[in-house]
Parts: sequence; structure tokens; C-alpha cells
Amino acid sequence: MTVKDIFQSMDYGPAPESAGDALAWVVDQGARFGHFINGGWTDPKDDFASLNPANGETLARLSQATAEDVDAAVSAARKAQAQWAKLGGHGRARHLYAIARLLQKHARLFAVLETLDNGKPIRESRDIDVPLAQRHFYYHAGMAELMENELPGREALGVCGQIIPWNFPLLMLAWKIAPALAMGNTVVLKPAEQTSLTALLFADICQQAGLPKGVVNIVTGDGTVGEMIVAHEGIDKIAFTGSTEVGRKIRTATAGSGKALTLELGGKSPFIVFEDADLDSAIEGLVDAIWFNQGEVCCAGSRLLVQEGIAHRFHRKLKARMDRLRLGNPLDKCIDVGAVIDATQLSKVTTLVAACTEGETYRAEVEMPVEGHFYPPTLITGLSPSSPLMQEEIFGPVLVSATFRTPVEAVALANNTRYGLAASVWSENINLALGIAPQLAAGVVWINGSNMFDATAGFGGVRESGYGREGGWEGLSAYTRPKGKTKPLAPVSGFKGKGVPDNALDRTAKLYIGGKQARPDGGYCRAVHGRNGNLLGQAPLANRKDLRNAVEAARGAKGWAAMSGHQRAQVLYYIAENLSAREGEFATRINAMTGGRSGAKEVETSIRRLFTAAAWADKYDGQVHGVPIRGVALAVKEPVGVIAALCPDDAPLLGLVSVMAPAIAMGNRVILAASEPFPLAATDFYQVLETSDVPGGVVNILTGAHKELAVPMAGHLDIDAVWSFSSTDLSATIERESAGNLKRTWVNNAMARDWSADHTRALLEAATEVKNIWIPYGE
Ligand code: NDP
Repeated sequence: MTVKDIFQSMDYGPAPESAGDALAWVVDQGARFGHFINGGWTDPKDDFASLNPANGETLARLSQATAEDVDAAVSAARKAQAQWAKLGGHGRARHLYAIARLLQKHARLFAVLETLDNGKPIRESRDIDVPLAQRHFYYHAGMAELMENELPGREALGVCGQIIPWNFPLLMLAWKIAPALAMGNTVVLKPAEQTSLTALLFADICQQAGLPKGVVNIVTGDGTVGEMIVAHEGIDKIAFTGSTEVGRKIRTATAGSGKALTLELGGKSPFIVFEDADLDSAIEGLVDAIWFNQGEVCCAGSRLLVQEGIAHRFHRKLKARMDRLRLGNPLDKCIDVGAVIDATQLSKVTTLVAACTEGETYRAEVEMPVEGHFYPPTLITGLSPSSPLMQEEIFGPVLVSATFRTPVEAVALANNTRYGLAASVWSENINLALGIAPQLAAGVVWINGSNMFDATAGFGGVRESGYGREGGWEGLSAYTRPKGKTKPLAPVSGFKGKGVPDNALDRTAKLYIGGKQARPDGGYCRAVHGRNGNLLGQAPLANRKDLRNAVEAARGAKGWAAMSGHQRAQVLYYIAENLSAREGEFATRINAMTGGRSGAKEVETSIRRLFTAAAWADKYDGQVHGVPIRGVALAVKEPVGVIAALCPDDAPLLGLVSVMAPAIAMGNRVILAASEPFPLAATDFYQVLETSDVPGGVVNILTGAHKELAVPMAGHLDIDAVWSFSSTDLSATIERESAGNLKRTWVNNAMARDWSADHTRALLEAATEVKNIWIPYGE
């Protein structure tokens, strides 16, 4: 080829990166690896191979961890934890900083090894994965430094079990290990069996950095090793990234164990292009959204929604661009799309696409490599919203597309998925784009961009994309807990009796659903007695149908979320005012039910909680992050949605008000199962709500047995979160049943909470999700 030819075709020649140093490092280690436990290596075994997906060559032989290996790793982590936490934030910051520096120093080695092991283009491992991994360690070195001053009431959870997938092996390791270590935890991490090498190189770095023994432990092997970590009694928290299916299994397996859990799962993220978008930019953004990392990205913009008027033109441009993508040797710096991770994944993608009988499939006309696991960039247009490929995560270089006519339809289509990880919105109209972003069910929204990440902007999803955030201030709560000891919660019961009411009027209370008093579906109620056995009243026994009606009412009241914090605060103050007007009556009722004398104090504190929540309604707001783009990321606090709560038994009014007030202050709608033994304060309270301008459906009150309501609450697909403060320990049941739609849960694990103390901050946090909206600016 002459220089003239090159100028005419403008083709790139090959620019391969040498694998030499990375392969030499592997050979230096004997090309066989044991586990990294307690600061040293176990004897390597020949259990399985790590292959290069681009050519099938064996890179190294790895060991499958046994139960004894996992035990040893957990014990080492346990032994190291107290000392690591005691080292203090500054001491830990120095270690994290040292790791960050070494990651930087060996950046090229990490990038090449990652590309060899995973098949991703070197351009991506070099320019994205490795720099972001370094960034996470630097960022969290800072968080360690700030912990004592900025998070004074929080402490480490203990030992964290961390299980990561094969698509971003080093980056996911960094996202997991950096915050855990910063907050004083120690870790046992399992990389995916296909991609363990950069985790093992990271272990080498930990040794070089002089990290104390046992702080980081890495065990290799398949999913059964993950299962052992999940089940291990010595683990305090599980952090998992991977498929929704395995996430669900982990939720079920950890139910009732008291282990903290964060899940970063799958997605089917919409990429929405409005007709006024800069189409050429949108095409480039789309290349980045779906062909970055071969589409093996949890937040890949894998569902293109394009406005009807420009659909034809956009698809035409897209196909032309697809034909220019370069597939091949991932070590070549000119390559856009590398190899799919393994034969299983390749066959999964191939089968899913082959099974699609709808629409039109376009495969990029690109030169396909002769060896290795490659799949051509593919576009499938004309699919209906319910088509399996519009719903299922393909996790490969396959884009599906549908059209929309109006912004309302775009939002409806975008949200028509069980997932909620990320979304991209393309429009030159800032009003339109910023109007759409809050309406999308997603943890991250990129305006006129895609796949942008930074440690300062938390990442994570809603719905079946999991819970918890990685990065940002919000990511720290997943690795800390409040300081202090908790006491077991004894079951609270009411009084028995046979007394008759002191007047002939029927004093049967009702349920409160959709702003109206409602008779229970089952038609049954229960007598509530005072200390002397006198009958105080009858409380209805709600069943699953009453719950269903309450959910429907709560769903219908979504206008509450759209009201301003100031407006919600007004309603909360009004509730407080009306409760205050009936203070004496409530105090008497509480004393009569509980046989105590603290009724007046309980009412007074309840009024205070209402004031506190009202105060926060317009102040618990988000942040503006300085992310490394010409623009910002807005971390917006959004309501979780519909929250069902089993209210505390021991504080019949204060418990209910403490739970309700912060939740509705943030725009949620609630379904409250009142104190089981003392339900009458709640049934009196709905009279207060009725006179306080609370829109129907925002607060729904049920009475009855917590045990009966826990299963339908946790299993209901239209409830977004379930909290339990009941003195009946239903933690395991709720966590297990919640796996269906992976709703957020907050359970007490049979531990007491002193409701006379103010827990508003914790409740506000549980009542909100952080959505990061990335907004680039400038011409
Ligand atoms: P998995 O969710 O199965 O794997 C993720 C991690 O969990 C791996 O380390 C895996 O081990 C481990 N694991 C597997 N089973 C269990 C278990 N029962 N308990 C604890 N840990 C377990 O993803 P796969 O790699 O199998 O991929 C399957 C599909 O999941 C892909 O086709 C893709 O669609 C999707 N996926 C989604 C990801 C995302 O981030 N959204 C990431 C990866 C995959 P090991 O791999 O060693 O078996």
C-alpha cells in the first residue's frame, strides 16, 4: 500500500499493543495461581484455565476454592478487620493512596492483561477501565480521610463478601474494594471464573503496597464459590454485581441472615432520540452505548427508541456507521469491538437473535475474524414493546429498536421494562431533555451522552436492576452502619379481656384506604382490651385483598411525588396541628391500650416528628457533582415510590408517625400496618389525616396481624419497598418474598429501636433513591 492509497482510503493500519509484559508477568507467577489469603498465596492447583476469548489460548491455570479456602479467607478477613478499622481514616487513606499510585504505575500492564483475559479492546481497558479503577481508589482514599469528621455516627460493617462478573473485572473490583476498605471493612472477593487475572495482579499490588495481611482476600472459582461466600456465617455484607437471576438467588439465600446486601444487576436501558437531536452525535453516542465492551455492559443503551419522523434517516445513518466498525484483535488499538467473553455467551447471544421472528435484523457488513468468539454488531428494528428482545438483557453487541411519536409515549416505552439501571436522552432542547429525565425509571440518566462514569457520581439501579449505589457519598452507607449496640426486641402483646363497651354504640374502627374509611374485605375484626380487660374497641383484620386495594390507591396518588417539598411540608404541619388539637384524647387512648402513662409524651413526640419531617421536606435535597466532563451531574433525591411498612408495636402512635412522616415528606405513598397489639391509635389517627388535606391514597392504614400481611406485602409487584419494625420477627419472610421484584427491604432482624429517639435521617435515606443526571454543556 502506498502513502497515496492510504490517503485515499483513510483506512487505519493495524496498531497492535504488545502482550509481552503481561504474558511475562503471568509466566513469572508460574502461570498457575492459588488464592490470595491472609497476605499470601495458597499452593496453586490446576483446576481450570483462564482463556483469551480472542483466540482461545490458555493464559493461566487457576484454582477452584474449596469450603476450607473460603473459611480461611473469611477468618483472615475477620482477624484483620478490627485492626484495620482501628488504623483510622488517615491510616487507611494512606494505604488506598498507595494502591492508587501503584495502579497508575502499572496501568499498561493492567490494561493489557485485562484485554487478554476479557477480550475487550485495549483502547477501552487503557482509557476507561484502568483509569476509572485508579480514580475509585483515589476518591475513596479521600473518603477514608474524611470519614471520622463527616460520618461521625457510622462504623464499618465488618467482613464483606464481594462477587463480581466478567465484563469489567478490574473496574468492578475497584468499585467494590475501594469503598469497603475506606470505611474500615475487610473483604473476600471472588472474580468471575472467566476473568480472574487482573484481580490476581491486584493482589500482587496489595502486597507491594504493604497492605496489612487479611485486609484483601481473593478466592477464585466458579459460581459455587460465590454461593459459599454468600452462605458463610462469618460474612457481614454481600456486594454482588451480575445477572438479575443470580441476584435474586442471593437475596433468597441471605434472607433473615442479618447480612447487609447490595445488588447491581442487569438492565435494558433505553437510548431515546428525539427528532431535534444532533443526529450525528447521537449515532456516536449510540456506538458508545451499545458497542462499548461488545455490549457486555449492564447499563448498555441496548434499547433504541427513536422518534418516528426521523427513524428512517437515523437507522440509515446508523447502519452506515455500523459498517465502519472494526472487529478483531482486541490488542489492536484501532479495534472498536473485541471478542465476546466465551463460547457460552456467544451461543446465548446467537440463540436469542436467531429466535427473533419479528422486525428486521441488520448485521454490520464488517470483516469477521476467523478465530475467537466474535459477534457482528447487529441492529433489530420494528420490534413491538413486548417482544422478548425488547425486554430481555442480551448482553452482547445487539441493539433493538422501536419508534415513538410523543414525549409521553417515549417515557412509557422507556419505562416498559422490569429493569431500571440507566437511560440516555438525546435532544437539543434542554427543556425537553430535563423534563424527561425525572420521569425515567433509572438510577442514572445521561443527557446527550452515554456510559459516563465517575467515582463521585453514585452508580446503581432501581426496580430489578438492584439496589445500593457504588460511588459518591451515597455509596458509603452500603459499607457502614450506625455506631452503637442494639438490643433484642421482645414480642409486644396487648391485653386480653371480655369486657363490653361502656356505651351501646358500635365502636368498630375501619381501614383507611384511598382517603376513605373502608370495611375489611374479610369482614372480621378483633377486640382490643385495656389493662383491666375492658373493651376499648374493635379493629378490623385486613387481608391480602385490602392490601391490594391499598396498593391501587397508593399507585393512583402519584401526584403527591410531583408536589413541591414546600407543599408536602404544609400538609405535614397541618397533620401536626390537628393532632395537637386532639392531644389529650390520643394520650388517653394510648395509655388505655398500653396500660402505661407515657401517652402524653408519645403524642408530644409524634407532633415533633411531624415537624421534623416537614422541616426536611424541602431540605433533604441532592447535590451537584463536578464530574470530569464539560458539564455536571445532578444527584437528585427521588421518592422510592410505594412503601409498605409494618409499624412498631411498642409505640402505637409515635412508631406509625415516625415511619410515615419522613416517607411522605419525600413524596412516597405509604401503606402502614398499624401496631398489631395496639391498633386504635392508628384508627383514630386517620381522622386526623382526613382533616389535614392529605390527598387520598398517600397514606393508607391497615390493621391486623403483621404475619398475615408480611407475605403479600413483600410479594406484591407494585410495592417498591417494605420495611418492618414489627415485634413479630418477619425479617426472613420479608427478605425472601421480596426477591420476586427485588424490592428494597429494611427489616429489624428482631432488634429493638428506641422510637423516643429521632431516626428521621435514616428514614429519609431509606425513603429516597439517588438518581444521577449527567448534563454536558457548551457548544
Ligand atoms: P452471573 O450473574 O452468573 O455471575 C456473576 C458472578 O456471580 C460471577 O462471579 C459468578 O461466578 C457468580 N455466581 C454465579 N452463581 C452464583 C451463585 N449462585 N451465588 C453466588 N455467586 C454466583 O453472570 P454470568 O457470568 O453467568 O452471566 C450470565 C448472564 O448474566 C449473562 O449472559 C448476562 O446476560 C448477565 N450478566 C449481567 C451482568 C451485569 O452486570 N448486569 C454481568 C455479567 C453477566 P462464575 O462466573 O465464576 O460462575
